[in-house]
Amino acid sequence: MSVAGPVIHPLLAGTGGRDRATFLMGAKSEPITVPFLMFYVEAGDRRILVDTGVGAPEETLAHHHPMGQTPEQRPLAALARLGIRPEDIDIVINTHLHWDHCYNNHLFPRATIYAQRAELQYAIAPLPLHTWAYDTIEYEPARVVLPPFLRARLTLVEGDVEIAPGVSILLTPGHTAGSQSVVVQGRRTWVLAGDNVPTYENLPGRFKPHFTPNGIHVNLEDYYRSWNRLARVGGEILPSHDARVLDRERYE
Ligand SMILES: [Zn+2]
Repeated sequence: MSVAGPVIHPLLAGTGGRDRATFLMGAKSEPITVPFLMFYVEAGDRRILVDTGVGAPEETLAHHHPMGQTPEQRPLAALARLGIRPEDIDIVINTHLHWDHCYNNHLFPRATIYAQRAELQYAIAPLPLHTWAYDTIEYEPARVVLPPFLRARLTLVEGDVEIAPGVSILLTPGHTAGSQSVVVQGRRTWVLAGDNVPTYENLPGRFKPHFTPNGIHVNLEDYYRSWNRLARVGGEILPSHDARVLDRERYE
């Protein structure tokens, strides 16, 4: 008897303005609007959330560009539409600890929350260039907030780990020191690569034989090694900030 494999539901948690070159290294500067995505994954009896989205605009305006979030895009509302309550989530996987990927970790009371040890180490004291992305704004005491990655207990892992049947973490540093990708083995193999692959334009294409890094990164050598790892996995990558991922309600 065949058992149904994991299913991925991409969820929209808001939108924000960016420069195209931010996500696509070397691209011509151009304002774009990007979605903030989360992924709900059902694997057997395990209910998994990959990244927990952004805070409400009024919470985040002090530290980040203005963003949009309708009431339906609030993370808990997006999950409720799938019939999922916060206490139903067994596992949260943070692809990395940038604010827009872990802001709501504390809303899932039963979840074991996985992040890489190297990521937490970097998040605590990042290069000055990256403090904004973690909300570790040490240079402006009046604006200090508790960084979102410290608002819930993290379960730290080092390297590759199988999380649930058909769901594994791969350590893929580059965008950040401890970025991890989630490989979901359904009918096909899907890869949630976090911000290592924010848009489909980062992938190799017909006229572009090579992968293009995110403009935000800590180590290009690591990044290319991680890219080569993902290429060997051979699955289809679902980018972390590309609205076209939402063209389908489920990936299996
Ligand atoms: Zn990021």
